[in-house]
Amino acid sequence: MSSPHSSENKSVAIVGAGAAGYFAAINVAEADPSARVHLYEASRRTLTKVSVSGGGRCNVTHHCFDPRELVNYYPRGGKELRGAFHQWEPQDTVDWFQSRGVTLKTEADGRMFPTTDDSQTIVDCLTQAAQNAGVTLHLKTGVSKITRHEDPHAPYFKLHSSQLSTAPCYSHVVIATGGGQKNAGHELAASLGHTITDLAPSLFTFHIDHPLLTDLQGLSLPQVQVSYPPAKLEQSGPIVFTHWGLSGPGILKLSAWGARVFSELDYHCELNVNWFGGAKPDAIRQALEHSKKQYARKALVSLNPFDFPRRFWERLLQYVSISPDTQWAQLPKKALNQLVETISNTRFQTNGKSMNKEEFVTCGGIKLKEVDFKTLQSRIVPGLYFAGEVLDIDGVTGGFNFQAAWTTSRIAALHIANGA
Ligand SMILES: Cc1cc2nc3c(=O)[nH]c(=O)nc-3n(C[C@H](O)[C@H](O)[C@H](O)COP(=O)(O)OP(=O)(O)OC[C@H]3O[C@@H](n4cnc5c(N)ncnc54)[C@H](O)[C@@H]3O)c2cc1C
Repeated sequence: MSSPHSSENKSVAIVGAGAAGYFAAINVAEADPSARVHLYEASRRTLTKVSVSGGGRCNVTHHCFDPRELVNYYPRGGKELRGAFHQWEPQDTVDWFQSRGVTLKTEADGRMFPTTDDSQTIVDCLTQAAQNAGVTLHLKTGVSKITRHEDPHAPYFKLHSSQLSTAPCYSHVVIATGGGQKNAGHELAASLGHTITDLAPSLFTFHIDHPLLTDLQGLSLPQVQVSYPPAKLEQSGPIVFTHWGLSGPGILKLSAWGARVFSELDYHCELNVNWFGGAKPDAIRQALEHSKKQYARKALVSLNPFDFPRRFWERLLQYVSISPDTQWAQLPKKALNQLVETISNTRFQTNGKSMNKEEFVTCGGIKLKEVDFKTLQSRIVPGLYFAGEVLDIDGVTGGFNFQAAWTTSRIAALHIANGA
């Protein structure tokens, strides 16, 4: 493999054997069977995140087939992905897996999983497809440097790794090394002239120590609004109480859209929570006053007008210093006012974060202006491509991060295969 131009065939190196790297390798090799496709993986295993993803079930994509709507799920990269999704969107992903015998199913919230509920199905499908297409896999071969060389025919790249005795040459390189705070791919790209935007974790839960939350772990509320007004951040969705604070889709979405803001605050800030889906204080007051009239003789605890889980309703009553056995008619005005204030706007001081174990990603990466999104080729170094989370792209939970990996790697692969 001394020169990429020793034959007419393309030689393609893909750095990183995760979702994006595998999909890029398969798609180049299938679209141009004469191309030499080499996939380099630093660790001893491939597709590790696919294996653990979605709680071991792999949330492959999301049931959203309109690119204009789909981009709204990406705090970073949505604008750039819009055109890209017109080339490869979730329906294409579904069809691609279906054509290889893997059927995806949709859950009530739009997440799509293999019908086997087992991420190994996806791992096996990708591994088999790469083998069939003739992709050469190099395990335990971390790429430490990429150099570009001029040549009378065309420039080429050399890949350097302490695990390789010589540096092989390639006409094209795809960097697909994923996210993370210390990512080798970012360093490789930076050494070739690319800018790396500020990195911060995304998709985390907040640490909150507050009497309203104590001992309620496991409880969930279906529609809660959480906001951080100084940065105009506001999200709604289900909330889960944890033993350290608050989690659930509503919180994860807020963490994603505010990933950089919260990182700068070192995860210490005041969040506002509206427990009744963002209902206005007047509407909450009306509901309480209606119950006071309608159910005058009933105990407060036996009937809550918001359908909160009983333990949370009891906690609210306790928080405003009212005995749960008090009759509705006896609810003092002061306590009613306090309930209105607490339900519509509880203020929590956060004192840290924990990563969401089910799914987390990195905000930041290769600066998107330096990449042509019609091809995923570098605007700085011809022949160099990027795919997946190494880019400054990340989505909320729900299959959007894998979809970005499938889309970007597919576009890069086809541009390489079709004669770039
Ligand atoms: C626990 C968890 C669960 C998740 N669940 C979901 C989910 O259900 N749905 C969803 O959409 N998203 C999910 N995500 C996010 C998703 O996994 C990532 O966005 C996606 O894996 C990114 O794919 P990638 O190929 O870009 O990067 P990765 O999957 O991270 O792959 C990058 C690969 O590059 C290798 N590498 C790095 N540096 C080098 C080097 N110098 N040389 C050679 N190889 C190198 C790494 O070892 C790795 O194998 C989850 C994330 C986590 C952490």
